[in-house]
Amino acid sequence: MVLGKQGAGKGTQCVRLSHHFVVPHISTGEMLRAAVKSRSPLGLKAREMMDRGELLGDDIIMEMVGQRIAEPDARARGFILDGCPRTTHQAEMLADLLAPIDIDLTVDIEVPTAQVLRRLAGRRVCTDCGANYSVDAPPKVNWTCDMCGGEVVQRPDDTEEAIRRRLDLYEHETAPLIDWYDARDQLVRVNGVGSPDVVLRRIIRSLEQRQARRRGGSSRRRRRPESPEPASPTDGGPSN
Ligand code: AMP
Repeated sequence: MVLGKQGAGKGTQCVRLSHHFVVPHISTGEMLRAAVKSRSPLGLKAREMMDRGELLGDDIIMEMVGQRIAEPDARARGFILDGCPRTTHQAEMLADLLAPIDIDLTVDIEVPTAQVLRRLAGRRVCTDCGANYSVDAPPKVNWTCDMCGGEVVQRPDDTEEAIRRRLDLYEHETAPLIDWYDARDQLVRVNGVGSPDVVLRRIIRSLEQRQARRRGGSSRRRRRPESPEPASPTDGGPSN
C-alpha cells in the first residue's frame, strides 16, 4: 500500500511498482474517475464530492475495493493499493477484508507541502489512461497523451480550493495511518523528493531491505527512512 500527500508521486510510483513487481495497480481514485466518466450510478454519486475534494463514504469505497481485490489477478499475484485506506476506519475494514493475512507493507512517500502544492498547480492528466504530465513536462503533441492519444487536462479537483481541502483531509484523516501502520511494523518511509526514477529506486531498495530483515528474522522497528540519501536536485514533477 502506498501513502503520501496529494502530489507526493503516489500514482506515478504505483504504476512503476506494479510494472516492477508485475502485480495489478489498484487505485481508488482511478476507479472512481472511470465511474464518473462512464456515468455509472457510483460515478454520478461520486462526482460532486470528488470535484470538491471531499472523501467518499467508507462503506462505498471498501465495497469497491473488496470487489476488486477478489478478482483473479489480485488473488493470484497480490496488488499495489493506491489511495486506500484514507481513514483508520478504512484501514480496519481493509484488515477485515484481507484476514487472516494483512497488507504486507505500507510505503509512505514523504514530500514537503510547499513542494506538493507546486506540483499540483502544474499537474495535467490524461482523461483516458490517467497518465501524468505537467506544464513543465507536457505530452509531445498538443496536449494529446503520448501513451494513448487521450486528451490531457487539469484534473477538476486540482483547483486551489479543492487542493486545500484535500490536503487538510489528508492531514487530519489519512496522516494518522502513518503511525497506525508503523505501530504494526508495516511501514517504510521514503524520501519522495527527486525524479521518479530516483524515488522508485529508493522505494525498491527500502522494500528489499525490509524483506531481507524479515528473512533474517529481525523485527526491529525504525522511524527513519530505511536508506537515507540526499535529495536529488531535480524534482520529477507532478504526479498523483
Ligand atoms: P485520488 O486520485 O486518490 O486523489 O482520489 C480522488 C478523489 O477520489 C478523492 O479526492 C476522493 O474524493 C475520492 N477517493 C479516492 N479514494 C478514496 C478513499 N479511499 N476514500 C474516500 N474517498 C476517496
